[in-house]
Amino acid sequence: MDTKLVHGGVHRDEWTTDPLKRSVVNPPVYHSSTVVFPNVAALRFASSDWPFTGMWYGRHGNPTTFALEEAFAALEGADNACLTASGVAAVNAAILAFVKAGDHILMTDAVYEPSRAFCDLFLKRFGVFTTYFSPCVSPDHFATLIRDNTTLVLVESPASLSFEVMDVPAIAEKAHARGLKVLIDNTYGPTLFAPFDNGCDVSINAATKYIAGHSDLMMGIVAAKDPETYRAIKKSVAELGCPPGTDDAYLALRGLRTLGVRLRQHGESGLKIAKWLEQRPEIIRVMHPGLESHPQHHLFKKQFKGSAGLFGFQLKAGFSQKAVDAMLDGMKLHAMGFSWGGFESLLIQNNINSCRTVEQWKYGDGYGQTMRIHVGLEDIADLIADLEQGFERLTSA
Ligand SMILES: *Cc1c(COP(=O)(O)O)cnc(C)c1O
Repeated sequence: MDTKLVHGGVHRDEWTTDPLKRSVVNPPVYHSSTVVFPNVAALRFASSDWPFTGMWYGRHGNPTTFALEEAFAALEGADNACLTASGVAAVNAAILAFVKAGDHILMTDAVYEPSRAFCDLFLKRFGVFTTYFSPCVSPDHFATLIRDNTTLVLVESPASLSFEVMDVPAIAEKAHARGLKVLIDNTYGPTLFAPFDNGCDVSINAATKYIAGHSDLMMGIVAAKDPETYRAIKKSVAELGCPPGTDDAYLALRGLRTLGVRLRQHGESGLKIAKWLEQRPEIIRVMHPGLESHPQHHLFKKQFKGSAGLFGFQLKAGFSQKAVDAMLDGMKLHAMGFSWGGFESLLIQNNINSCRTVEQWKYGDGYGQTMRIHVGLEDIADLIADLEQGFERLTSA
């Protein structure tokens, strides 16, 4: 995997004009709108199978963006991949590739909130209806939700607020038996979870998070298992017109090269902090799928190569909101922010049920506020000291 991350999409012979083929290491940043053709034959070739014949017009890619698509496809074992201007655009373009008016789709109730908003506020207006199901659904119950007009299922595992792990291969098997496409939002675990070995047809990633890895750009990537699925997605992306800027594609490719080592460190530090938090007297539950106490730890161990740095935890009941605010306000190394996947640590209070409709996440009697933490690449002793001081503010407020 690490070798694929380092060598995927590399075409040094194409990245140089030097007659002796001396080359730079990374792709040149091609800024493109108009693409010019040297002759009619070249233009005819480009039109013969639009937009699958390489450069045509800036919106459909250039050698810099192709390098990132190829590198991501190599890491996923995909036929090919498409870039979009954000993770949200990637989810939406992937869904739109497989629905028409009158169709029905299935989606996990613990999906990233904007994906739900796209279904309920946008697709609904065009006659595409969505049924949500519990992230802990049994495969047999899932099968009963499939209708004759259901065309796809979108899963996300683990859930990004509550961290349930889904039985993706079992759900995919039921979905394929009825001819559905299986889409996964795999933003949590690029390299940790292999979508195509676990029954998925389409792997979606918010490259904004771990792939870019430095909290300074927005991008989505959709990878397809087979050529036919890739063609549907590339067309959808082309018609929606949502390409990323080339500078951002360059930076995201640079992020991808170090994804392996970064994610291993996020994972190792994250698990250590999760175990430390589990021992704290202020805390009643830690939602980290790598912990043995996690309800789907067995699935996680079977399906994932490791954990990321993102997880949740829940305070014991009885802390006032003022005390929680005091804890958060005084953090020195844990910033408050909605995204994650960068080198820096984040901590934020959340309400897991703010976007659930099938069944409420059980906060439980004697259970208090929930928070989400992203463990960054700082020294773990410093992060623990910061959290320790936070708990002092929490208990003395
Ligand atoms: C952040 C995120 C997205 C959306 O990505 P953006 O680049 O912010 O649009 C989609 N899915 C998940 C799980 C995410 O965490």
